[in-house]
Amino acid sequence: MFPIRIILSKLFVVERALYYETLSDERVRCTLCPHYCSVSKGQRGICKVRMNRDGILFTDVDGKYSAVNLDPIEKKPLYHFYPGSSILSLGTKGCNLKCKFCQNHEISQAVPGKYPYMRALSDEEILEMARESRNCIGLAYTYNEPTVFFETMIVLARKVKQDGLKNVMVSNGYINPDPLDELLEYIDAFNIDLKAFRRGFYRIYTHSQLDPVLETLKQVRKSGKHLEVTHLLIPELNSDAKVFEELVTWVAGELGPDTIFHLSRFFPAYQLLSEPTPMELLYRFYDIAKDYLNYVYLGNVNTRFGSDTSCHHCGQILVRRFDYRVEVTGVEKGRCTTCRNKIFVC
Ligand code: SF4
Repeated sequence: MFPIRIILSKLFVVERALYYETLSDERVRCTLCPHYCSVSKGQRGICKVRMNRDGILFTDVDGKYSAVNLDPIEKKPLYHFYPGSSILSLGTKGCNLKCKFCQNHEISQAVPGKYPYMRALSDEEILEMARESRNCIGLAYTYNEPTVFFETMIVLARKVKQDGLKNVMVSNGYINPDPLDELLEYIDAFNIDLKAFRRGFYRIYTHSQLDPVLETLKQVRKSGKHLEVTHLLIPELNSDAKVFEELVTWVAGELGPDTIFHLSRFFPAYQLLSEPTPMELLYRFYDIAKDYLNYVYLGNVNTRFGSDTSCHHCGQILVRRFDYRVEVTGVEKGRCTTCRNKIFVC
């Protein structure tokens, strides 16, 4: 399917949304994500960027970006995908989740028409930036949830592939199977959040559900595309060691013990202003994860512990990381130079 763009004025371009069905003259149902918003004429869905205009669902994020930056790939975070490279990262606004601890809430929860810092860029301008940036492997759809700018992402992703570059999606995983299937044709690598392993947590703190996220993770794994998982450890909210053990057991069982797992430290943000995750707690959960998974990393921390990659088979250090500086020392064509174990895409 190809999106249709409509220019309402020089500054306001909307694009007809993909993935929705008509319920009546007045209402449409968006089928892009598991919220299945039923949207009345003149209203918007939960993500605030998809709106019903005269019985047709439009998205108003087309061609306008809240941020476009050249980032180290490690910042996504992706640690086993072209380590040491850069990626042109872009975001828009809106999100289909309402995480009380969102670190990008200014854009993810922006009130329609009230976020003035959007920058209009054509697809060609973006691709040119990616081609000309040093060490850049392609585009990352990130900062806010890319699912809500699906139409922009799918068009860009096709062009990126035609250029021989890579596509990366950093996502909360809250997307329906059909649109995800369409994306899987073009996206090379995913980092997907698994925020907790309790339905109540997802319902109360993110306004969404756990099960569709688990299904997304399984669908991506089954596709063979590169997958890394991030889990933000929040004291008191998802810091029950037994539940965390269930979570990593599920990851190891359903996605495999070689699944790259980023355990991230919480810092107060948005509506959740409690203390940061104590380092001792983070280390304890790191040890639990390491009992089940071969590649576990610490994120949002000012320590080198939990940042290097060692080969799980022979123990050789393969990649050393100092913040976002990276030294690739023991990898050749994606394999450990000592035992030839394949653990990287590069
Ligand atoms: S993408 Fe937005 S409008 Fe569509 S179902 Fe999800 S939250 Fe609702």
